[in-house]
Amino acid sequence: MSEYQHRARKRFGQNFLHDAGVIDRILRAIHARPGEHLLEIGPGQGALTEGLLGSDAQLDVIELDLDLIPILQDKFGSNPNFRLNQGDALKFDFARLDAAPRSLRVVGNLPYNISTPLIFHLLNNAALIRDMHFMLQKEVVERMAAAPGGGDWGRLSIMVQYHCRVEHLFNVGPGAFNPPPKVDSAIVRLVPHEVLPFAAKDHKLLERVVREAFNQRRKTLRNTLKGLLSTDQIAAAEVDGSLRPEQLDLAAFVRLADILAESPNAAASS
Ligand code: SAM
Repeated sequence: MSEYQHRARKRFGQNFLHDAGVIDRILRAIHARPGEHLLEIGPGQGALTEGLLGSDAQLDVIELDLDLIPILQDKFGSNPNFRLNQGDALKFDFARLDAAPRSLRVVGNLPYNISTPLIFHLLNNAALIRDMHFMLQKEVVERMAAAPGGGDWGRLSIMVQYHCRVEHLFNVGPGAFNPPPKVDSAIVRLVPHEVLPFAAKDHKLLERVVREAFNQRRKTLRNTLKGLLSTDQIAAAEVDGSLRPEQLDLAAFVRLADILAESPNAAASS
């Protein structure tokens, strides 16, 4: 243990794991092996880092809080498998890691205040990633793993499931953290598809259609998509325009995006 006592900072989403049983369960779910390349986002004071390095994998970490850098350096700096990157994971250029396609294993007890934009940033780099294991707010994991038809199904479910297979592994109560967060948490595993089950012609247009559709989730698709697609175009995608967005599955959203990709409105809407 370092002499230095770090005070948890709310603005960095700091809730440090201290429950050895939970830490062990997460490490077993990740099951890192020698020679693998791991990237830990937000190592904090090293609750997961220590066990990850114990596997003899190569470990890059990205930590934003400057005060934690000397603590991490002090604890793990002498390990040749450890590489410390100071900075913002939201802006991190994954090309810097020089990782082979589908090789990187990304893990982290993520700062909950930035978890959604961070997941989108990672999805943009999905080609480099073999799998991801994250601690997130339980409600966010439920949205990622949701099926069409319910209130949890939305932009996050669709864009995550477009790129990845999602497994809600287990829940973690607030008592496992210091300080305890006000919400329940859960561990999720995301495995990028080797071949996309429903590949859109232009994935930016898919994002656009999904965003537009869920902006007003109580309205019909005919209504919310009117700036992008005509009633005829919606019908050409074999979608019933009188449905609400939460009733449509991923394949249907991809068909809508593909119709948009073929239409003259596409350039204006991307
Ligand atoms: N992994 C540690 C643990 O489980 O005890 C810490 C988890 S804590 C929930 C989130 C960590 O992410 C903190 O160390 C925080 O400083 C760091 N962090 C917050 N925003 C970040 C960002 N934009 N980029 C990188 N790290 C960030």
